[in-house]
Amino acid sequence: MNEPTATSLKDRSCLSKKRYWSQVDALVMAARCLERRNLAGLGTYRCSNCGGWHLTRTDDSDCFMRA
Ligand SMILES: [Zn+2]
Repeated sequence: MNEPTATSLKDRSCLSKKRYWSQVDALVMAARCLERRNLAGLGTYRCSNCGGWHLTRTDDSDCFMRA
């Protein structure tokens, strides 16, 4: 039996990040951030906490933390 995923706080970044339900959506947003702010190194990853996709970056997360 697995714990309910909704109550898992394992991945705290998951809660503060915008969630995408497909990698395509995440990649589109990553491209948008690149255009607007010349951000480099944006990547996408599949979140095991919520089952969605998030963007990841080493710094300056403002672009994708806010819808
Ligand atoms: Zn997540």
